[in-house]
Amino acid sequence: MTISAHLAQVRDGIALAARAAGRDPSSVTLLAVSKTFGPEAVIEAADAGQREFGENYVQEALEKIAAVKARRPDLDLIWHFIGPLQSNKTRPVAEQVDWVHSVDRLKIAQRLSEQRPLHLPPLNICVQVNVSGEASKSGVPPDALLVLAAQVAVLPRLRLRGLMAIPEPVEDPALQRQPFAKLCQLQQRLREAGIHTDTLSMGMSADMSAAIAEGATIVRIGTAIFGKRDYEQ
Ligand SMILES: *Cc1c(COP(=O)(O)O)cnc(C)c1O
Repeated sequence: MTISAHLAQVRDGIALAARAAGRDPSSVTLLAVSKTFGPEAVIEAADAGQREFGENYVQEALEKIAAVKARRPDLDLIWHFIGPLQSNKTRPVAEQVDWVHSVDRLKIAQRLSEQRPLHLPPLNICVQVNVSGEASKSGVPPDALLVLAAQVAVLPRLRLRGLMAIPEPVEDPALQRQPFAKLCQLQQRLREAGIHTDTLSMGMSADMSAAIAEGATIVRIGTAIFGKRDYEQ
């Protein structure tokens, strides 16, 4: 199947899950996660109507963004950085992408804010939360979220948009929903504390429907669009 056919299938899946949850399908944004796939795959997806792309690795992201721009300056794409970010790599990210989903400490947020060029709009930020406890290393612990979110929200060149999570993979759809429900509750708690956000970045190829049922506004889909990844390449 082509990328275009896979995209159509994923969009149908989003619409189905949204309607089942009583939600408008347009309230869920599809982020195509293109890591390990080349610029030609991004261009193929873009020509099939896909506009938002997610990348995990800084070097790969920078090369791909430049390659796509060089080949197709007509495409107006929105790039999201969704992978772990070290503080010595924040500058090119602040300069080249529109969103960062993986902020889990203040130092990274401060650097992104300082390094965001003035001619660009504020960088959209999601704070990554560890909703799976000890099983996961990245993400701020839920009990430290409020403090970090309040600090990020006042940084001048950032715009705090919401929360992101990567729960431990489980197959049972009922169990899949629990960490997503938790992220949604945490967003509600922020709201009660006066910190308003509009984004829940949650759900991947294997648990997209569960995430949409619990309120995902961005689903991050790689495999179901581009196929299995080959990390050897
Ligand atoms: C790779 C990745 C995805 C996409 O995962 P699939 O299972 O291929 O859909 C989503 N989010 C993050 C943070 C990822 O690293």
